[in-house]
Amino acid sequence: MASVLLTHSYHLPYDPKQVRKMQPYTPIGTLYAATALRDHGITVAVFDTMLLEPEVAFADALRRHRPKIVVVYEDDFNFLSKMCLTRMRDVAWSIAAAARETGAIVIVHGSDSTDDPDLFLGRGFDYVLCGEAEQVLVTLCSSILGGTEAPPLDGVMTNSKQGHRGQGRERLARNSAWAQLARPARELIDLEPYRAAWQEAHGYFSTNMVSSRGCPFQCNWCAKPISGNRFHLRAAASVAEEMRSLKDVGVEHIWFGDDIFALNRHWVQVFAAQVVKQDARLPFKVQSRADLMHEDTVEHLKASGCAEVWMGVESGAQTILDAMDKNLRLETVVIARERLRAAGIRACFFLQLGYPGEGWEELQKTVAFVRKTRPDDVGISFSYPLPGTVFYNRVQAQLGAKRNWADSDDLCIMFQATYTTEFYRAVRDAIHAEVDSWKARSEGSHVVADVDALWRAVETSEAASRCEQPFVFTDSANAAGVVHILPLDQLAGSREA
Ligand code: SF4
Repeated sequence: MASVLLTHSYHLPYDPKQVRKMQPYTPIGTLYAATALRDHGITVAVFDTMLLEPEVAFADALRRHRPKIVVVYEDDFNFLSKMCLTRMRDVAWSIAAAARETGAIVIVHGSDSTDDPDLFLGRGFDYVLCGEAEQVLVTLCSSILGGTEAPPLDGVMTNSKQGHRGQGRERLARNSAWAQLARPARELIDLEPYRAAWQEAHGYFSTNMVSSRGCPFQCNWCAKPISGNRFHLRAAASVAEEMRSLKDVGVEHIWFGDDIFALNRHWVQVFAAQVVKQDARLPFKVQSRADLMHEDTVEHLKASGCAEVWMGVESGAQTILDAMDKNLRLETVVIARERLRAAGIRACFFLQLGYPGEGWEELQKTVAFVRKTRPDDVGISFSYPLPGTVFYNRVQAQLGAKRNWADSDDLCIMFQATYTTEFYRAVRDAIHAEVDSWKARSEGSHVVADVDALWRAVETSEAASRCEQPFVFTDSANAAGVVHILPLDQLAGSREA
């Protein structure tokens, strides 16, 4: 029995690309919501949809717990939840339908529902919690369970006789106290299926944690519906302590799901000292930016166990980075890559294909940049206009009925890019094959793909794959003379926890 049953909608078997990768991570944002509820004396259970079948098994969980409230609380820390995939939207709606049949109140929170609350209210949810929602979740659930009317709450959307409306003054809830929450309630889910999946696919067990939430940078395609540009940072000692506790239960590797790790260079120094002091060292990977890879930061990352840094490089053409308001120079990426190489930390690049203004010349610059810098791995995505971004606003008029990807391998180009989706897929495959061939050679193993043939196919189809009237930004912030320069050191100094 539990008063509140928390769940989320991301089911890995429904996402073929992630099945191939088989790197399941716990729904840590959902587990933080469970912590917040439990800390306020509310009995809570978690149905973890990641590996559990979300129809029959969820119905079992409803029978077992008989909750008064069911909450689809998405993991805001997982990029897969942030992608607002329609396959997982269907899962959320089926959970809402099953929960309503039992008479439960049904609540939803996540990037997708924050983007379009009415869509979810129209599909059986009683409330949509927009923004950083742990505190409003606690207040709302306490009121429902206590039989009292909830006070007006920022970020809470519900149905009313007047139609859909928000309850508070602000559309988004804020949670300034996230960093002070106790550890995510991992004991409410079963870690063993994760361990088994990792062991079988990779021979070791990796799990996830977070040291911060949000990112203050303003890359103009990056959707941040939950935290906007706010940044929360946990105390370094507490993060090291959590690492140690994971090490104690046999975790062998950690993925930090932070949007941006190492934003505060002093924090990284304190963190490294705490990791050593608490004997918490484990290999881990992070997502960060090349311009944060200062010499001392790389040194402290190495000392704390960092094995892999993924950096948003996006493009090898400076004009495209500038059009994205990335506020990053390619020279900086070269320096960061070398520093990481020298420290023995894998340097991996996120690349993005299809951004407006990227033609054949810019694509070739990206390929040349990858060849020059030789990242240890690349992750390639295509430009995806998500609501709330400058990019979305600029291409909105071109969007048709399809506005979201179905799963993480969809990568459909939904606006007038320079080329067709198929062409970008061919470029992606050729880049991946080339990077994989370097890896294979360095490991002395056999190179599987014919990289030259893949590039020949790209070149031959280039002209025929062009769109007639590609969209190009004419009103970019940089063209208007507005450059977002963030006072990083000042910002870092003010946020040490
Ligand atoms: S640095 Fe990364 S997380 Fe931050 S705005 Fe840019 S793309 Fe988004």
